[in-house]
Amino acid sequence: MKTFYILYVLTLVGTCATPKYTTKIQNLKDSIDLVDSTLVTKYASTITTEELKKHLYTFSSDEFEGRASGTEGHKKAEEFLKSYYINEKIGSAYGDDNYFQTLPSEFFNDKIACSNNVLAFIKGSEKPEEIIVISAHLDHLGIDKNGNVNNGADDDGSGTVAIMEMAQAFKLAKNEGKGPKRSILFLHFTAEELGKKGSEYYTMHPAFPLKNTVTNLNIDMIGRIDDLHKNNKNYIYLIGSDRLSKELHYISEKVNTAYFNIDLDYKYNALGEKNNYYGRSDHYNFANKNIPVIFYFNGEHDDYHKHTDTPDKIDYKLLQKRAQLVFATAWQIANQEHRLTLDENNKFLN
Ligand SMILES: [Zn+2]
Repeated sequence: MKTFYILYVLTLVGTCATPKYTTKIQNLKDSIDLVDSTLVTKYASTITTEELKKHLYTFSSDEFEGRASGTEGHKKAEEFLKSYYINEKIGSAYGDDNYFQTLPSEFFNDKIACSNNVLAFIKGSEKPEEIIVISAHLDHLGIDKNGNVNNGADDDGSGTVAIMEMAQAFKLAKNEGKGPKRSILFLHFTAEELGKKGSEYYTMHPAFPLKNTVTNLNIDMIGRIDDLHKNNKNYIYLIGSDRLSKELHYISEKVNTAYFNIDLDYKYNALGEKNNYYGRSDHYNFANKNIPVIFYFNGEHDDYHKHTDTPDKIDYKLLQKRAQLVFATAWQIANQEHRLTLDENNKFLN
């Protein structure tokens, strides 16, 4: 009887506590107002399969020799990105034509030559000091021992060209007087394949104070499908979106529902998930500094980290749609009235 009574009380506490939390979450969800829907659709549509394809066939061609950090091929890739931003009249975070942040050879224990992160920047029209970082890594595995070039079309050519197109779309909006309220930093990391070194270095030596860095949307492989999605390719794995800012998570969901209806798969976001993708790409160095992140990822496939990861195997329609999702999410965070809120400061949750 006594046992029964205690269980009964516990059940009561449980049922009281649960609705309260769901009410808080509902209030948070209801507070998210999507901004500029017509503009989002208009500028997202400038991210085209043709341009993504054109850029990716160049970026993952043999000419770039697999883009291993510190090599000539990587330098060509850095220069390719720099020329692109100069042509598009998209400035640098450092002013003039200085698009490079150099990681000195000592940072690699002198085992490889110095290597550059590439940074392009669009200044916000109202809150320029608040920064949205959109990132992907530009390096890959170089040439293997049999002389095959690791083209890395998906890893991470797909993320790289998605960023190029997003930058162009934001720039066009700015030219037409619809520039983002907050600033956007387009950040191409070196040395991810050597252990996220480019993002580690950037977060140690940020171009803008990290306390003003609102979020990091990081893309690492979004042009292919994995074995689990052979029958439904309209998906993307999202990792990390709810860890530091539930607002970020629900913004991402609301944007997706409004414009795209992609299956957002959170399989790899589970705490303790054995692959630990949350800790395995560049966003992790931002999350470690208490900056909310989303990691966009299509999962591994047969060509992962092989020389067969080539641009002919990319699904460009899918790449376009996923890039547009990242763009629209960034647009919302850059243009909504208030700065994205960490859970610890969120009035709806506390
Ligand atoms: Zn990668």
